[in-house]
Amino acid sequence: MGLARVLSVALAGVQGTVVEVEAHISPALPSVTIVGLPDAAVSEARDRVRAAALNSREDWPMQRITVGLYPATVRKAGSGFDLAIAAAVLLAAGAAPAHSLDGAALLGELGLDGRVRRINGVLPAVLAASAAGVKRVVVPHVTAAEAALVPEVEVLAVRSLGQLMAVLRGEELAEPVAQPIVDDDDDRGPDLLDVIGQAGGRRALEVAAAGGHHLLLLGSPGCGKTMLAERLPGILPPLSPSEGLEVAAIHSVAGALPAHCPVVARPPFRAPHHSASMAALVGGGSGVIRPGAASLAHRGVLFLDEAPEFHRGVLDALRQPLESGQVEIARAQATARFPARFTLVLAANPCPCARGTDMADLSCQCTPLARQRYLAKLSGPLLDRVDLRLLLPPVSRADLLGGERAGESSSDVAARVRKAREQARQRFAGTPWRLCGDVPGPELNVRWPVPPRVLAPLHREADRGRLTARGMHRTLRVAWTLADLAGRDGPDVGDVAEALQLRAGVG
Ligand SMILES: [Zn+2]
Repeated sequence: MGLARVLSVALAGVQGTVVEVEAHISPALPSVTIVGLPDAAVSEARDRVRAAALNSREDWPMQRITVGLYPATVRKAGSGFDLAIAAAVLLAAGAAPAHSLDGAALLGELGLDGRVRRINGVLPAVLAASAAGVKRVVVPHVTAAEAALVPEVEVLAVRSLGQLMAVLRGEELAEPVAQPIVDDDDDRGPDLLDVIGQAGGRRALEVAAAGGHHLLLLGSPGCGKTMLAERLPGILPPLSPSEGLEVAAIHSVAGALPAHCPVVARPPFRAPHHSASMAALVGGGSGVIRPGAASLAHRGVLFLDEAPEFHRGVLDALRQPLESGQVEIARAQATARFPARFTLVLAANPCPCARGTDMADLSCQCTPLARQRYLAKLSGPLLDRVDLRLLLPPVSRADLLGGERAGESSSDVAARVRKAREQARQRFAGTPWRLCGDVPGPELNVRWPVPPRVLAPLHREADRGRLTARGMHRTLRVAWTLADLAGRDGPDVGDVAEALQLRAGVG
């Protein structure tokens, strides 16, 4: 008598660990002790669960209550253990059949009035519980659709502690859980049809999508950099169900999933402002660690407009996800990991005064040194990973008046992108890479050699000191993507020449 166990989940990043929550009641002066590496918010559960139980008209045992969270080595953060703690105590006190929550994982914060409040990260928590063999979860009602995304798990959605206890006692029926609505797959967001002119920019976008190449767009304000960047997700293939679940799990931890439509079917787009903090860009925060824009853009596009205006340290922090495809945030007791594999699009003005693209515009007074310094903020390790660098011309009067709408819709371009990606996938079968943009350094030319005749333009540029060894590898990666887009077995001289053009501008 006086002992009950339920389960819950401790999250670090999107990784969850199933935690056993044990309540023991013994005859002594009334007190509540929580043991097992709780953080401040978990310790405060003491007061919340007692008030919640009393306000739910449940009998709170006036004895010594000890709550243990095991394994004790796993860090427990946040208020998401409230519901499990309250249920364990009430079961130990005999408020409902002792085994009515056996094997079930409970997630949720309690309000003082007994309401079960939303917590972030329900989806990755339920995924972790399911992976550990848990077949039944109890979640806040507002997160029911999110939890229901996980197959083969029975979801009990509750609005209050009182409702949960009434269901366990058989006094009420559980509320039915609506199946999550799948987003319309045809909705590609803004369409390329709306972009006037900028044939070069559109081509670079297509190449970036086909090869997974990062992209730098240089051009004066109003030339359409943001318009182009926003249209990149619309020409990427839709996410597979497992990719969608992976992306939704990250968004769940950020509290960014819509309640009724938690399915993510399209690659996400994130455009943090240049004043963004380190935590906003790569993740962090106190208590429960939140993902940043880099992770929220996972399997989609991260767009940094006015990139040279970002804090240097914040830009440098992008090196880790660009290298490893994930972000690691270390804390005293735990390391949170968030996936962060995105296509990076950087946009910048050509010079500090932003008028420098138009060579005829003599109003630009920026010295060559000032220009160099401005773009130097992007140089080095970050720019080194950007295969495509494009100088966009100002939109001309002819483009605007001539109705030269270049005609292609996002779905037409997306069809070519899909074919090109399929060709690359077949070539790279049996390697860790899927796209040309994934292949590091000289590997491409070692494994899939290109005839010297085709490489001649690259060597010519290198001989003139206009192309570094790294630049050659980047250009070759792009040339392979151009070949994939054209359905050729490998790059020809024309592909190499176009690839060289697509890295003009800087670097
Ligand atoms: Zn200028």
